[in-house]
Amino acid sequence: MNREDLFKNIIGHAKEYGFIFQSSEIYDGLSAVYDYGQTGVELKRNIREYWWKSMVQMNENIVGIDAAIFMHPTTWKASGHVDAFNDPLIDNKDSKKRYRADVLIEDFVAKIEDKINKEVEKAAKRFGETFNAEMFVSTNPRVVEYKTKIDTIKKRFVTALETDNLADVKQLIIDLEIACPISGTRNWTDVRQFNLMFSTEMGSTAEGASTIYLRPETAQGIFVNFLNVQKTGRMKIPFGIAQAGKAFRNEIVARQFIFRMREFEQMEMQFFVRPGTQKEWFAHWKERRMKWHNSLGFPDTMYRFHEHAKLAHYADAAFDIEFDFPFGFKELEGIHSRTDFDLKSHEKFSGKKLQYFDPELNENYVPYVVETSIGLDRTFLAVLSASYKEEKLEDGSERVVLNIPDFLAPVKVAVFPLLNKDGLPEKAREIFDKLKIDHVVRYEEKDTIGKRYRRQDAIGTPFCITVDHDTLNDNQVTLRYRDTMKQERVSIDNLAKIVEDKVSLRKVLV
Ligand code: ATP
Repeated sequence: MNREDLFKNIIGHAKEYGFIFQSSEIYDGLSAVYDYGQTGVELKRNIREYWWKSMVQMNENIVGIDAAIFMHPTTWKASGHVDAFNDPLIDNKDSKKRYRADVLIEDFVAKIEDKINKEVEKAAKRFGETFNAEMFVSTNPRVVEYKTKIDTIKKRFVTALETDNLADVKQLIIDLEIACPISGTRNWTDVRQFNLMFSTEMGSTAEGASTIYLRPETAQGIFVNFLNVQKTGRMKIPFGIAQAGKAFRNEIVARQFIFRMREFEQMEMQFFVRPGTQKEWFAHWKERRMKWHNSLGFPDTMYRFHEHAKLAHYADAAFDIEFDFPFGFKELEGIHSRTDFDLKSHEKFSGKKLQYFDPELNENYVPYVVETSIGLDRTFLAVLSASYKEEKLEDGSERVVLNIPDFLAPVKVAVFPLLNKDGLPEKAREIFDKLKIDHVVRYEEKDTIGKRYRRQDAIGTPFCITVDHDTLNDNQVTLRYRDTMKQERVSIDNLAKIVEDKVSLRKVLV
């Protein structure tokens, strides 16, 4: 199956099993806004909790907050979002489709990168064990030509954006002969800047009302609370503040399911450090965050770093962790060295000092900040797409199974009575009631056991427990494992421990 069809199946599956619904679907939906259903909400909650515990619980110098979505409007002046939180947009006059100019150019560059990778693969096959990829990439004339082309494009693009030369961004698209994927034509409008913040009015009367914004990132809630937390928590630098919460962006092109939404959730951590030490902390968090992703257990090859060509107005270094989504490698998390830009700017706009007295240096300074910023919804999509499997079984039948890491599974255990009589439901409910105190457990008595197994496989439940007539005599049940489909008889007294050992965060929290 090609990846496009696979992605369609994943989206269909997400709806069918209560992971994700389109927002206000009965009114034909709202573009790029989604709701999490009864199964999805549990998975999302588990991912958020795993991130929170890894950050806040496991690091004695990181604490959490939960700031409001609405903030004083000056916040967004100070952060630069009012003036600079723009995307360059361009329309194709024939298809009337709107694109981000930077994305059109990045996609073009990605195609050249693909060509380089293909050359490398071909050469690796040809030369076998003696192949030296590094040498090949720096000497093969065709690859060198591709690389020079990429460098030239990137340089011209970055210069055009930095000097606000939107005419040249358009010219670059024309020179590269980029065509609209829908109409196939190169009939483009001029490039315009578009601010991504949603605004609304606060206050009851027209005169008294002021324009406020829905936050486009959670980070600013942390910056404006920097001193509150530092003082009341008696935090010593280096220390971090973490937060998970909603953010809103009026994205120009909202496609690819929950990858790019207009309302989404971020999990961010701002780490405040002594000026001059940001490089080492940046390296530290880059590595730590990749480890976190790898701890989910998907192949390491599904993740890679990507260095930003054009840095945001506040950053002195930036890497993305990209994930191999069904539509290719795309950003999952950003790690940014934000310098002292935000705190300094808030000092300027608020007139309040946002400084730290460093007892070791015996001096005051505005700390530097290294930020890790991950999308919760994108992580959800990464977990869902990496764990989705369509399997052909030995007996010729098929099943869809989600090999979700056990500790993230929305439902941990399902309990079934084999038949709906003879005291089996009562026994099964007894087990259900015992386990539900610690875990999300489902109880099901409809349909054949086979069908019940399939339904649980489809939502990624690691364990199914079946109570049969023997159970009433020997106090044992059949425990069935999701991934291997193996079944074994175990004593009811051991169930809690078996489940706990498998789904506990203990093994992964490091
Ligand atoms: P992109 O380049 O894809 O627009 P970004 O670089 O603007 O993303 P950041 O501002 O670094 O994103 O935000 C941090 C994280 O928040 C991203 O890595 C991503 O996981 C998540 N995120 C950003 N925008 C969206 C969105 N529209 N929908 C879902 N998640 C998002």
